[in-house]
Amino acid sequence: MIIRPKIRGFICTTAHPEGCAKSVAEQIQYVKACGRFDGPRNVLVIGASTGYGLASRIAATYGCHAKTIGVFFEKEADEKRTASPGWYNTAAFEKQAHLDGFYAKSINGDAYSQSIKDAVMDLIRRDLQQVDLVIYSLASPRRVHPVTGQIYSSALKPIGQPFVGKTVDAFRGEVKDVTIEPANEEEIANTIAVMGGEDWEMWIDQLASENLLAPNVKTVAYSYIGPVLTHAVYKNGTIGKAKEHLKATADKLQGKLAALHGEAIVSVDKAVVTQASAAIPVVPLYMSILFKLMKEKGTHEGCIEQMDRLFREHLYAPHPPARDKDGFIRVDDLEMEQDIQRKIEEIWPQVTTENVKSLTDLDGYCDEFYRLFGFNIDGVNYDAEVDPVVKIPSI
Ligand code: NAD
Repeated sequence: MIIRPKIRGFICTTAHPEGCAKSVAEQIQYVKACGRFDGPRNVLVIGASTGYGLASRIAATYGCHAKTIGVFFEKEADEKRTASPGWYNTAAFEKQAHLDGFYAKSINGDAYSQSIKDAVMDLIRRDLQQVDLVIYSLASPRRVHPVTGQIYSSALKPIGQPFVGKTVDAFRGEVKDVTIEPANEEEIANTIAVMGGEDWEMWIDQLASENLLAPNVKTVAYSYIGPVLTHAVYKNGTIGKAKEHLKATADKLQGKLAALHGEAIVSVDKAVVTQASAAIPVVPLYMSILFKLMKEKGTHEGCIEQMDRLFREHLYAPHPPARDKDGFIRVDDLEMEQDIQRKIEEIWPQVTTENVKSLTDLDGYCDEFYRLFGFNIDGVNYDAEVDPVVKIPSI
């Protein structure tokens, strides 16, 4: 099969196995070049196949030589369709990790379900006995509640009043005004049910009750705050409410883990292009300006740079920087630097369809989007036939 990108709205329905493999190899190379450091030994990553979760898995494996179990929800290829990028990423990651002598096993299925939790518990008990780091990096539009069977769908909406502002149709290069009507109470509650902390707590409770958490265990979930410009749709919107719930859950888990001298932490990460963030209105235009300025300043980072820094300079640093006043780890520090944010505020009102390519790094944004699916990767021949069926060794 010759595999080309097929863009539908803000998703791409195809993925390239060799491109994904190369992008994983680049991330591995990045961490190896930064050198080894003391960190976790046995790591569970929930949401391990793309974005921040995949980068966390790579940082743990190649930075600390940790054993990892990864959980995700991805599609295998069939006669008509390629696999999803997370499938190809994991196949490539596991193959390389095994060649390099590292334990890496994966479980594909719905992490919100009881059956997948039970399967993961069995695997930990059998192979690792206990884990000393649990990364919670799910991003999902829906959740089936494992006890009630109720289906929740998340919404990306403002709260209280409509949002009126600018957004970009990234692939058409069109800057346009959008109005997003505010969420109702049910949509807010549903978004909290999907992206809040209830499922994270269920994972930690089950791991603890089955004695699968090691002393001094850490568990980390990821959040985003961003500048005032995006607050209506992010921080003060439905997703922000879910993130508040995630933080409240961390504070609750901190108490539950006290006997193990454990820690539950929320790390606030930088805005990066992932399948999850591409779906949020306004954010792609903000990111296009942000990337231009951070690249000019030499501070631009993707998932792997962020996660390497999180592990090396915060979670496992002998003298980590202080958390912020709310107790968050902040690896969004370079994004939030005053000079960067001041310039974004200046550029934002000026951006139009005519000047979007010169005032912002829209091309860089689109390029990173293609790369998520294994396209636009140097050294891959996209005109060549490639077998879309790729096995993940442990599945
Ligand atoms: P992503 O879409 O790249 O990754 C999501 C992961 O969750 C994938 O591994 C996917 O397979 C898995 N997943 C989704 N539904 C699942 C299910 N039901 N069962 C099992 N696995 C499932 O997303 P991302 O952007 O890396 O987001 C991860 C976390 O980081 C989220 O909490 C997000 O809010 C946060 N974050 C993202 C950004 C950003 O700019 N992308 C910034 C800061 C924080």
